[in-house]
Amino acid sequence: MKEGWLRRRILWYLRRDHVNRMKQARTGECARCGRCCHGCPAFKKSEKTCRVYSIRPNICRNFPLTPDDIEDMGTCGFSFEDLALSGGNPSE
Ligand code: SF4
Ligand code: SF4
Repeated sequence: MKEGWLRRRILWYLRRDHVNRMKQARTGECARCGRCCHGCPAFKKSEKTCRVYSIRPNICRNFPLTPDDIEDMGTCGFSFEDLALSGGNPSE
């Protein structure tokens, strides 16, 4: 199971208000490294592409949900710069 898979589902389905606040603090853009897709059956490793990109789930479109997701990946094109605005991580 990809790091943080369960945490993301709990946040996405039960803490959407927090996810939406965090989204306001998210900056940057996807560097298409594919790290967050490893282990997904729709991920085409050789090309680092998603086989269902145009219809990918909203939880994929909104990755990373929190700074924990970036920490899990090691690096990501996105970052969270203004945690005062978002209220920080729910786990803190
Ligand atoms: S880990 Fe970040 S940069 Fe890499 S594919 Fe996922 S969202 Fe894009
Ligand atoms: S974007 Fe596509 S390959 Fe990546 S996790 Fe979502 S469905 Fe899987």
